[in-house]
Amino acid sequence: MTISKDRTNLPEDASAERLLRIRRRLMGWYERNRRPLPWRETDDPYRIWVSEVMLQQTRVNAVIPYYHRFLERFPDIHRLADADSQEVLKLWEGLGYYARARNLHRAARRVVAEYQGRVPDDWHIFLTLPGVGEYIASAVQSIAFDHPHAVVDGNVKRVLARLFRMEEPVNLSASWRRFRETATALMDPDRAGQFNQAVMELGALICLPKQPDCPDCPVQSHCSAYRTDQVASYPRRVKKKPVPTRKMAIGVVHRDDTLLIVRRKNEGLLGGLWEFPGGEIRKGETAEAACVRAMKEQTGLGVAPEAWLTRVRHAYTHFKVVAEVFHCRYVAGDVDLNGPVDYRWIRPDQIGTYPFPKVNHGFIPLLGVKD
Ligand code: SF4
Repeated sequence: MTISKDRTNLPEDASAERLLRIRRRLMGWYERNRRPLPWRETDDPYRIWVSEVMLQQTRVNAVIPYYHRFLERFPDIHRLADADSQEVLKLWEGLGYYARARNLHRAARRVVAEYQGRVPDDWHIFLTLPGVGEYIASAVQSIAFDHPHAVVDGNVKRVLARLFRMEEPVNLSASWRRFRETATALMDPDRAGQFNQAVMELGALICLPKQPDCPDCPVQSHCSAYRTDQVASYPRRVKKKPVPTRKMAIGVVHRDDTLLIVRRKNEGLLGGLWEFPGGEIRKGETAEAACVRAMKEQTGLGVAPEAWLTRVRHAYTHFKVVAEVFHCRYVAGDVDLNGPVDYRWIRPDQIGTYPFPKVNHGFIPLLGVKD
C-alpha cells in the first residue's frame, strides 16, 4: 500500500503510519459489514452512475425503489438516451432535485452520440458531461473503473473531521479542498472504489451525525475526537442565515369536468414538471386575491376562488413554501401563458400520468383522485 507523497496540507497528526492503520481497519470493516445494496451488485458504469446521481441529496432507502424502476424502464444508456424527457421526469417524480434527471438524460444522449454508448473512463472527459461535478466524477470513476479519485460528501467530511479534529467548517465550500486532500491521503489508490465506499458506509452506519456508535467503530483507537472526548464538537459548522419562507397561492381551476395544469419551463427549479398554476402572495394581499391575480398573470384566465382546499408546506434547500390552495371556478378568457411553456385541461383521473412537484402532491390526494 502507498500513501500520497504530498502531505503539506494534511492535519498535523496525520502521520503516514496512522493513515495506513486507519485505512486497513476501514477496509477490513467494510468487507465484513457493507450493506448489500443493488448498485453494489453491478460493475456496469451506467448503473453505478444512475445510483450516484440518485444518491446525491437523497437517502439510500428512498433511492432503492426509484433505482429499480428507473433501470427496469431504462436498462442501458441507449434506452435512456432514446426516452422522452417527460417520461424520465415521471420516473424521477418525488425524488426531487429534478435538474439531476434532466442532466442525466442529456448526458446519456451525449454518451450515445459521441462515445458509442460507452461511459467515458477518462476523468476529464467524464467531467464535461451535463450534471457531472467533482462528486459524481470521483464516485463513478473510482467505483466503476477504480481510478484513484477520493469522494468527498457529507458522510466523508463528518468522518474525517472527527478522525483528525479538523477545524474547517463542513458547510463552507472553502473547506472542500482540504477535506479532499485529507481523503486523498487516506485513500487506497489501488482500491479507490472500495475505499470511498468504506468511508461513506462508516459515515452512514456508525459515525452518524447525532449519537455516533463509537464503541463499535473500527477506527475508534485512531479517532482524535473520540480520544479527547470531543466527538460532539465535530464536525465544525458555521451558522447559516435562516432560510426564507415564500407564501404562495395555488388554484385548482375547474372548467366543466376538467382541471387546468401548466408545465414549467425546462430550466431552473422543478424545470419541466407540471403543476397547478399560482404565484407568490404579495405583502398586504390576501391569499384569494393573490390566486386571482397570479392566475391572470400566468395563464390569462379570470377565475373565482370558491373554496379553500388546504395549506401545504414544503422545504426546499434555500427556501420554504407555505401554499394556500383553492378550488377555483373558471370565469372568463382563453389560456395565454406567461411563464409556463405548456398547458392542459385534464380529467382528474389523468393526473397520475404527469410528473408533479412535491407541493402539488401535498393536495392532489384531496382532489379525490389516486395520487
Ligand atoms: Fe466517528 Fe466515533 Fe468512530 Fe470517531 S470513534 S470515527 S467519532 S464513530
